[in-house]
Amino acid sequence: MSTATELRTQDFITLEDRYGAHNYHPLDVVIHRAEGVWVWDVEGRKYLDFLAAYSAVNQGHCHPVILQALLDQARNVTLTSRAFRNDQLGPFYRQICTLSGFDKFLPMNTGAEAVETALKAARKWGYEVKGIPEGKAEIIAFANNFHGRTISIISFSSDPHHRAGFGPFTPGFRVVPYGDAAAVEAAIGPNTAAVLVEPIQGEGGLVVPPDGYLRSLREMTRRHNALLICDEIQSGLGRTGKLFAYDHEGIRPDMVIVGKALSGGFYPVSGILADDPVMGVFQPGVHGSTYGGNPMAAAVAQAALRVLIDEKMVENSARLGPYFMDRLREIPSRHVKEVRGRGLWIGIELHPEAGGARRFCEALQHEGLLCKETFDEVLRIAPPLTITKEEIDWSLERLAKVLTTL
Ligand code: PLP
Repeated sequence: MSTATELRTQDFITLEDRYGAHNYHPLDVVIHRAEGVWVWDVEGRKYLDFLAAYSAVNQGHCHPVILQALLDQARNVTLTSRAFRNDQLGPFYRQICTLSGFDKFLPMNTGAEAVETALKAARKWGYEVKGIPEGKAEIIAFANNFHGRTISIISFSSDPHHRAGFGPFTPGFRVVPYGDAAAVEAAIGPNTAAVLVEPIQGEGGLVVPPDGYLRSLREMTRRHNALLICDEIQSGLGRTGKLFAYDHEGIRPDMVIVGKALSGGFYPVSGILADDPVMGVFQPGVHGSTYGGNPMAAAVAQAALRVLIDEKMVENSARLGPYFMDRLREIPSRHVKEVRGRGLWIGIELHPEAGGARRFCEALQHEGLLCKETFDEVLRIAPPLTITKEEIDWSLERLAKVLTTL
């Protein structure tokens, strides 16, 4: 590698640093091209992507079927706004409702917008259906949650970095410890409109709650006539080896929030799924988005869901996740405290003395693996669900090297 080519990476970093807001701290790799589980940087170095854009590219980078759908649709019509109808939205609604078993879908764009939509639906349902006195609706959320970055969403974040300097906050939320059903029982009451939960906390450090936890929340919310909302933006669409992470406990929430992999990484598509009694709170004009449900999004999402199912990516996650986790547990590393996760969503928690997960991510980058730490001490492994056993074995050699030599 010559100095001249090394400068190219640095040139792009310099441009970003000079002209962009510094609201991220990325690894110093500048990606130029991607295909499947692999990405290439501007100097042609190849890496295996162990983040998959936080589960947005579950289907693998630049999946040819989704790409074709995007190109075909771009030639027809991209945006109509919802003032007019388009011929992609109805088929997309039918597909996602049939797949998920919910009556209706409400499309948005980013994850945070879909979470906001769920919060609005829950409050409105609380007033109009449950009969909570006006202005008194409460939503229960959990410590170390991550649901996005809007003012209302960070109003119930427990992470000081996400909140500092952004007050005053939106009232109406109660935050209780995650994984502790008794804490919810103590907080839930007649004014509770909903409980909003990540079935597995992703950004919170890949925390898998105790067995039966989601079933307890389901039973409790039913008993108190409150909605159970699962945020499946990162955990959903195959990541954990089931279509939705709540499927592991055999429950059915009242509302499901989806995003990220709904478009296979091509285009922001998100939304909420619910049955008629909840979705019925939305009448014309009360909520919407110019881009939500646009024909491009609907065409891309249909292709993204189709390949996820047809190419058995959910099954691949269920089959290879446990294999990967078992092999990781065999690595004799003094740094590793615990390996946990579900499907192809694995967290390697390091001991506090290991010096933080970031330096491991940097070392893995030099071995050709791109990882992102979560919660400082957890190395997150979340490749596209198209990964093969051979690619996992290839990465295990590199992970073992870094975890035993650093
Ligand atoms: N909810 C969960 C569980 C997430 O992991 C994320 C993003 O990481 C979001 C919501 C927010 O999604 P977006 O970044 O698309 O707004």
